[in-house]
Amino acid sequence: MFKVGLGFDSHRLVEGRPLILGGVNIPSVVGCQAYSDGDVLIHALIDALLGAAGLGDIGQKFPESDPAYKNISSLELLRRVMAEMKAAGLAVVNADTIVILERPKLAPFISQMKEHLCPLLDLRPSSLGIKAKTAEGTGEIGSGQAVEAWATVLLTG
Ligand code: MG
Repeated sequence: MFKVGLGFDSHRLVEGRPLILGGVNIPSVVGCQAYSDGDVLIHALIDALLGAAGLGDIGQKFPESDPAYKNISSLELLRRVMAEMKAAGLAVVNADTIVILERPKLAPFISQMKEHLCPLLDLRPSSLGIKAKTAEGTGEIGSGQAVEAWATVLLTG
């Protein structure tokens, strides 16, 4: 049996916060305003995984009202979600993602993101797509005020 999942996340960018995407701390003057580390790429992946598995969404699983999740690494959240996937007898076949950010350019960091994410997802690098796009100067992303990520996953089990 196969199950497909779709995930989305966005965060406002502010000065004085780290920019963490795919578990990589990216040099930037702005970072995500968020209760956790604001890793939109991992948050979109987690929502795609939970959606495909019928296990709700990231807000239900890790509520912001719980101080245990303040500034928590999203890699740790993904680790916990993948443990639930395995317990449910589900494995990831492949995942594809898009990060939409005006600057900085993410291309130099994509292989590092895969080094963090592939072991957690049990995927080869060729089965995890991470695509970096800009908004070509339009809207809140284009003006550097926000970052957005989309993810799809295919589960089997
Ligand atoms: Mg988020």
